[in-house]
Order: sequence, then structure tokens, then C-alpha cells
Amino acid sequence: MQKIVSLAKRRGFVFLSSEIYGGFGSCYDFGPLGAEMKNNVKNAWRKEMTRAQEDIVLLDAAILMSPKIWEASGHLSAGFADELVECKKCHHRFRKDFLKGDKCPDCGGETTLPRKFNLMMKTFVGPLEEKSSETYLRAETCQGIYVNFNNVLNSMRLKIPFGVAQIGKAFRNEITPGNFIFRTREFEQMEMQWFCRPETADKFFEYWLKTRLEWYFNLGIKKENIRTREVQKGDLAHYAKRAVDIEYKFPFGWQEIEGIHNRGDWDLSNHAKYSGQDLRYSDEASGEKYFPYIIETSVGADRSFLTFFVDAYAEIKGGRTKTTEATKEEEIMLKLHKDLAPVKIAVLPLVKNKPELVKQAKEVYQLLKPHFATQYDDAGSIGRRYRRQDEIGTLLAITVDFDTSKKKDVTLRDRDSMKQERVKIKDLLKTIRERMEN
Ligand code: ATP
Repeated sequence: MQKIVSLAKRRGFVFLSSEIYGGFGSCYDFGPLGAEMKNNVKNAWRKEMTRAQEDIVLLDAAILMSPKIWEASGHLSAGFADELVECKKCHHRFRKDFLKGDKCPDCGGETTLPRKFNLMMKTFVGPLEEKSSETYLRAETCQGIYVNFNNVLNSMRLKIPFGVAQIGKAFRNEITPGNFIFRTREFEQMEMQWFCRPETADKFFEYWLKTRLEWYFNLGIKKENIRTREVQKGDLAHYAKRAVDIEYKFPFGWQEIEGIHNRGDWDLSNHAKYSGQDLRYSDEASGEKYFPYIIETSVGADRSFLTFFVDAYAEIKGGRTKTTEATKEEEIMLKLHKDLAPVKIAVLPLVKNKPELVKQAKEVYQLLKPHFATQYDDAGSIGRRYRRQDEIGTLLAITVDFDTSKKKDVTLRDRDSMKQERVKIKDLLKTIRERMEN
């Protein structure tokens, strides 16, 4: 894991937040390449959930919401504000008064000291720091979807079944954050809530579990590193009828990356009760009114970023390329899926002291830059530059050499096969587009 953290920092993927002040509260910043890659992860999710699927619309709700929402959702109820201890190993939390002895009843791990604890991050809205202006940063994005149920339904003229997808920040005052960006106090969630007739909930649960698993495999995650775990009845969250965790084999063990939940009608019926609004769905055909069941798919953007990063990380002993100067050295590669790689193309002039050649390389760079995330790199030997690009997962490297001015072509090197081919500059955009599509 240490190697992954250091690569992430060295190459501008992830930095410790407030690093010059010694870091802050287990928060992290995404650097230039990290920001690109995280956007790619979010785009891949949005594409899958709203384009590849039927009847799912987007929402972007506010982080700050009425504190009544958190009462209705159960986040402010006794269980969330009691003295809690957390197991340092499995992160299960227990009411201190329910605990017999000092060890975790689930895994026998060591527990933290008891603390009065509410996971919600409190803040004040308005100039006065008084009880009536207190609210919370949202602890999950889904509540914004439930309270907008009628708005979305009516404005989009939707019919059940349908889904609402949202990507956004969430905040939890985790007692034991850690493992780099795996568990942080500020993170981003990608959640989809699927509203359906109660009797179809089981069928849709299976569908979404399968669909979400395929998403990881289609984006290159190795099959053997993913498994599912049925959450046992006693461990289910207060709202859940059924939950399956999708887990990934991290260097620090198998851990949840995504949860698929059957939330029943808990959320809508509770919000109806607390708000006094009718949040039932009216079935035009049958004249029935009912609370739909909700199947939720919930994944962290940061946590899936880490999953893709870890899975793509490879060390190649002895080096891959003959052009590498130090062939005995270990080469690092990020075999990221093409949709996720932060840089798609590198443009490399063979030498940097020939003005004509540099001019051509810059022209190729300008040609590609508006269309693909492209880097220009002229520092060091060509072998070193290939390695630097492999290390950040760049898909294609284009070398502009002495033949370019005569033949009007360049060398295109593929990251994975290392195959090199000559391509005419005039055909470059088309050739690359074809590669990116397949
Ligand atoms: P965990 O048991 O790991 O704390 P959870 O069961 O509380 O997670 P959910 O509430 O189901 O998690 O949240 C859904 C998803 O949101 C998780 O699968 C994870 O990808 C992400 N997530 C939750 N908490 C965090 C966090 N503190 N940091 C980063 N991602 C998180």
C-alpha cells in the first residue's frame, strides 16, 4: 500500500490535505492527474447509470438541508448520538452500554475508548451560532433524492419503475478513518435510488447487483479481486430489508466498496410522516396509491478511484522496454482502463534541441489537445519518458522524429502491447478516435 500512496503523491494523483500545516483530519486533495481520473470515474458511473440504463434521471441536491430530514432518516436518533466505541479492525460500532468486555463482539478486535458520538458534522446556517440555526452536512446523498421524490416525479412525468442518480459530497465524522482515501471524513458518493413496486423489489435487487458488478469488470477490475457478501440480518442497517456488499481485495484486506440495499418503503413513508406531505405514488392505470420500494446502489467515488488505482498498479521486474536505460530497475505501470486513464496521449519529440522537430511536435500536441487529455513531454531520454507515461497509465505515446518532416508521419506506441506503428499526421485524429472507441 505504501508504494501506491507514494506513487499517488509523486505523480500528482492524491495529496494530503493541508500538507504544509501537517495534514488535516484525514482529508485528502486530488492533484492534477487525480482530479482528471476521479472525473473519469464519475463520468463512467454517470454514463452507465443514466445512458446505458433506462429511466434514470440525474439530481444534484444541496449538501445543506433541513435538519428535519436527519430526524426523519434516523441519523439523529439515539443510536447515532450515544456513547460509541468502534472496533479498530472491522470498524463496527457499538453502544458502549451494549458491550460486554472491551473486545469487539464481531471479530474480537481492540475497541476505541467510548465517546459521545454523532457521525453527522454539525454546522450553523446564518450568522448566529444558536440551536435554531443548527444543521448538518449531509452524511449520505440519498436523502436529497427521497425528499425530491414528488418534484422529480412530476417534473419529469415518470412512471414506476424509475431511478434517480446523484453524485455528490458526503461528510461523516468517522471515528477511525484510514487506509489512505479508503475511509475519510469528506468523500463523494455516487448513489442511485430505484423506485419500484414492492413485489418487484427482489427482482430488481438481483438486476442491480449484477449490473453493478459488471460495471467493475467492464472497467478492467480483475474478477478474482471482487466478491459479494450478503449482510446478515442482525447487521442490517435500520432501514434495510436486504443488503449485499460488493467487496474488493485491497492490500489491507477484503473491504466493502459498494452497497446494494433494499430499503423497502422506510424512507418515503418516514419523510411523509415527518413532513406531512403525501409521498405515495399514484398508479394511473389501477388507481392504486402506494409507497414504492427503493433499491439503492451506493458507492464512494473516492473509494472506487482507489479500487481502480490499486487494481491497475503493476510492477514489472527488470523493465519492459529495451529502450529503458536501467533495464534492471523495476518498472511501474498503471494499467488503467482507457476511459479512466487521466492522460490519454503523450506527445514526445525525439530530441528537444532541433527547432523543426520541436515545432512539429508542438503542432501535433495542439492538434490533439482539444480532443483528448494530452501531455507534452520533452525531458530526458525517450525510454525514460515512455516509463514516466506508463507509470501514470497514458494509453498512447506519439514520437515525433527525424522522419516526421519528410514523411509527415509519427510513431504511435501502445501502452499495453508496446507495439509501434507509423501513422500519417493527417490520419492521427481518426486513428486515435477509433482506438478510444474500441
Ligand atoms: P463502511 O462500513 O465502510 O463505513 P458504510 O457501510 O457505512 O461503509 P454506506 O453508508 O453503505 O457505507 O455508504 C456507501 C458507500 O459510500 C460505501 O460503500 C463506500 O464506498 C462509501 N463510503 C462510505 N463511507 C465512506 C468514507 N468514510 N470514506 C469514503 N467512502 C465512504
